[in-house]
Amino acid sequence: MDYFPIFLRLTDQPVVVIGGGEVAARKASLLHRAGAAITVVSPALCASLKESIDRGDMRYVAEEFRPDHLMGARLIVAATNSYEVNAWVSRTAEARNIPVNVVDDRELSRFIMPAIVDRSPVIVAIGSSGDAPVLTRRLREQIEALLPSGLSKLAKLSGELRGKVKQQVNNPEARRRFWERFFDGDIAADVLAGREQQARQTIQTAIDQQLNEFGQNSAQKGEVSLVGAGPGDPGLLTLRALRVMQNADVVVYDRLVSDEVLELVRRDAQRIYVGKQAGKAYVSQQDINQLLVDLAKQGKRVCRLKGGDPFVFGRGGEELELLVQHGVRFEVVPGITAAAGCAAYAGIPLTHRDYSQMLTFATGHIKHTDVLGEVSSELPMDWDVLAREHQTAVFYMGMNGLADIVRELLAHGAPASRAAAVIEQGTRSNQRVIIATLATLVDVVRDAQVQSPALLIVGEVARLHEKLQWFNTTSRQAQADVTHIDSEMKH
Ligand code: SAH
Repeated sequence: MDYFPIFLRLTDQPVVVIGGGEVAARKASLLHRAGAAITVVSPALCASLKESIDRGDMRYVAEEFRPDHLMGARLIVAATNSYEVNAWVSRTAEARNIPVNVVDDRELSRFIMPAIVDRSPVIVAIGSSGDAPVLTRRLREQIEALLPSGLSKLAKLSGELRGKVKQQVNNPEARRRFWERFFDGDIAADVLAGREQQARQTIQTAIDQQLNEFGQNSAQKGEVSLVGAGPGDPGLLTLRALRVMQNADVVVYDRLVSDEVLELVRRDAQRIYVGKQAGKAYVSQQDINQLLVDLAKQGKRVCRLKGGDPFVFGRGGEELELLVQHGVRFEVVPGITAAAGCAAYAGIPLTHRDYSQMLTFATGHIKHTDVLGEVSSELPMDWDVLAREHQTAVFYMGMNGLADIVRELLAHGAPASRAAAVIEQGTRSNQRVIIATLATLVDVVRDAQVQSPALLIVGEVARLHEKLQWFNTTSRQAQADVTHIDSEMKH
């Protein structure tokens, strides 16, 4: 260990910053956040430092550096653009045993500043002993994403309760267990989920109860988070989704959840797959609903992970209804729905002032077939509306019924030249985009042997793919067909 990490209490302590530029300003403002009594020494000031000084956040000495400026300092930061001055500050500080940091110069520095994630009072500091600053910033981003913003409130609450708990639970071992249960329990979950107000109202009683109950093995209450996992690229998860995935005891997921997303689930969480099994039918929706209730009643934190957004063709509502019936606590974490993800990664704006003033998300699963393949019912779709011009119609689950969809659209007045796109494995590394017209779509999709999941976008916006595509799309097919559309457009 080349550097020893400590947390230094700087409240009202004299800290001298030598330098008046932007870098000095950034360091000074960090030190100000820690409550230091800062003196800035520099003949000139950048705008942001001047503002801080005008606000009275720090003192200002408008002079070239002299050793006596360091008198009485607890900590010194040198951030001038002159190596000589920085080295002089460093020598002077070292001679007086005052810790000094020279920005971006570890040879001249006694201490270096870590990258920080600030959820005060929780602070995470990350350093690489100066070897890999960009790497530490990456790590900082990852940790930033992992730590919920409610952490700060939770830690403060814990600080408020410490005295009381210490008084009522004497045994240190028992106290540790109390806190473990506290941080794993409902109160902490409420505070972390931003339901602090709600938590505050019941918190006192809940804590008293937990203090009383403590030692007796009372059952924990479980809960279900209905989480949208997005279309596949794990970068499209929300921070909240990631947190739930990291905290879950059990993750119940289906086919649309990508492997890369599953990678981010807590290692020791139980995983239950409820999607289509090879050859077998789906696990029935009723069984899934019941499974969620059962798991929650066992006291588990259940993450119900669904592709895209749980409330867009995701049956999220049905699963919640049974939870409500059984009084199970739940939350819903929205996700990026396939239409938004596929459109973005295919360079197809869903609306456009020139081409599309309306956007419809429709199910393409328009016919229900019975076991013998007979059509048992047909969904009431408003084909007149879907066929109209100047709009975009997005069909989820549209591949099986593709020929029917195209036929209905044409029958209800859509021109055969209308553009359409099929995006297979949208947002994933093997994404394919196929651009065609209603006239050619069925053939092109058949030739390309499109696999599930695939999304159908019908509307002139599909033509923009050629110009706006940016994501590494592997399709050759798309190129061939775009040429086709180009020649068609010229007529
Ligand atoms: N709740 C999901 C939709 C579930 S319905 C969401 O909001 O996205 C399943 C359909 O979604 C698939 O048949 C397909 O049409 C579409 N879909 C989901 N993920 C997809 C992906 N990565 N690429 C293309 N289509 C996708």
